[in-house]
Amino acid sequence: SRSKRTRTSQSAQRETQKECTSVQEDTEVIIVGAGVLGAAMATLLARDGRKVVLIERDMTPPDRFAGELLQPGGFCLLKKLGLEGAVEGLDAQTLYGFLINEVDTKLLLDITFPEDEKKDVICGRTFHNGRFVNNLRKAALAEPNVKIIEGTVTNLLEEGDRVVGVEYKDKATGETKELCSALTVVADGQFSNFRKTLTSGKYTVTSHYIGFVIKDCPAFRKDKAEYILANQNLMIVYQISTNETRVLVDIKGEMPKNIKEYLIETVYPQLPERIQEAFLKTVEKERLRATPIGFMKPMPVLKPDTGVLILGDAYNVRNPTTGSGMSVALNDLSIWRDFFKNIPDLYDDKAILQAKKKFHWMRKRSHSFVVNVLAQMIYDLFSATGGSVLKLRNAYFDYFQFGNPGTGPVEMLSILSPDPKKLMGHFLGAALHVIRYAFKMEPWYLKPRALFKSSMLLFCGMSVIFPVMFSEMQQYKIW
Ligand SMILES: Cc1cc2nc3c(=O)[nH]c(=O)nc-3n(C[C@H](O)[C@H](O)[C@H](O)COP(=O)(O)OP(=O)(O)OC[C@H]3O[C@@H](n4cnc5c(N)ncnc54)[C@H](O)[C@@H]3O)c2cc1C
Repeated sequence: SRSKRTRTSQSAQRETQKECTSVQEDTEVIIVGAGVLGAAMATLLARDGRKVVLIERDMTPPDRFAGELLQPGGFCLLKKLGLEGAVEGLDAQTLYGFLINEVDTKLLLDITFPEDEKKDVICGRTFHNGRFVNNLRKAALAEPNVKIIEGTVTNLLEEGDRVVGVEYKDKATGETKELCSALTVVADGQFSNFRKTLTSGKYTVTSHYIGFVIKDCPAFRKDKAEYILANQNLMIVYQISTNETRVLVDIKGEMPKNIKEYLIETVYPQLPERIQEAFLKTVEKERLRATPIGFMKPMPVLKPDTGVLILGDAYNVRNPTTGSGMSVALNDLSIWRDFFKNIPDLYDDKAILQAKKKFHWMRKRSHSFVVNVLAQMIYDLFSATGGSVLKLRNAYFDYFQFGNPGTGPVEMLSILSPDPKKLMGHFLGAALHVIRYAFKMEPWYLKPRALFKSSMLLFCGMSVIFPVMFSEMQQYKIW
């Protein structure tokens, strides 16, 4: 949704700002959405001397089961950005790594995050998302340069090809108001209302997660997030407070009409025995919720292409299985923070456009390519229930057990070193191991068949990885 205005010159834009700004003198940046990205961005820009208005439709702490696992890479960056206070006082749990538990084969891979120079494990954190976001918002509120408005942004205001501000409905009064600024940052999340008016990016739903919390579940390793790869569903289990364990159940295809019945009849029998009782008790009495899971590749803003930035999940979404969305948002934010330091006047559309182009490639080299490709690949492998993808998974796990993949995969997964060259090296190592694996699985008199089998597995691997790699490498005609 947009609102058109007619004036175009820069001086007219500055005048417009004076007309409709009543909340904060000389607002330089309006941020739409005080989620992980918006709230953190408001704080950092304010600390760098910018006048920021943050507009959030609901300031009560979000009650959602997204964004509860902060990878070590994201946590290190949070500290580097001076926002580490946001994980304090939440009963956040320290995360040391992952367990991959393949129920049918009883395979258990125990993966620990890399160590620092002092030989301490570089840990992540898990927590209630609502508490974390609330702390980020509090940090923004504490900045004198930030004003927070509780209201829903309904329109972007345009003058020519430029976004000059927003129209919003104030929550307290119900009034519709306008606010102008040099730059509007759209950070309204996965279900962004403004993405479709600004970019050609399409959010594609691939499956659904059902989420609920088990209280006082004694059976889990509290220091590691566990992937349970059952024969019909993928489940992810991790501790979000001292006595609360989050359970996420992935459902491919159509959502069942009765979620409770589905969990009891279909999911329960697939679970490891040690958690069955706690699972059943919880499913019978707790609130069960579902959310769509999908992906959206990053797309540049079309028209109006100046005066506006789109970031966070509104800009780029990946499968949440690897728990990396918040870390990507923080990494993107860190890049933009450095850019802004060299753009004193945010009406300088030329400088912002240059920065947008640079950002598009820089984020790929520094984090987004690896994270987006790995997220999709891991989801495809972990959620496989049969056919060649399941065979590929077996070969891949064999690589982890016997192929000596080194620390590279964990460094990439934990977003400590998401280097595209390292990812290519990993794929090459895995591909060679797949060939060895195919030969190992055949008796001596059927070795020639291994050639055919390894080709099939490699073809399957390419069909999993290549589409997402291709979409990541796309060059946009607009630039
Ligand atoms: C099921 C699931 C599990 C996930 N698990 C993880 C995980 O474990 N680890 C991880 O790192 N990532 C995870 N993610 C991804 C992560 O949640 C996102 O990457 C992250 O929250 C993106 O932050 P954001 O600021 O872009 O959006 P959000 O955090 O969604 O914030 C958007 C904000 O905009 C506000 N808003 C929306 N529309 C308007 C409007 N019109 N006006 C004003 N305000 C508005 C919303 O109220 C909200 O506060 C998960 C995602 C899903 C779906």
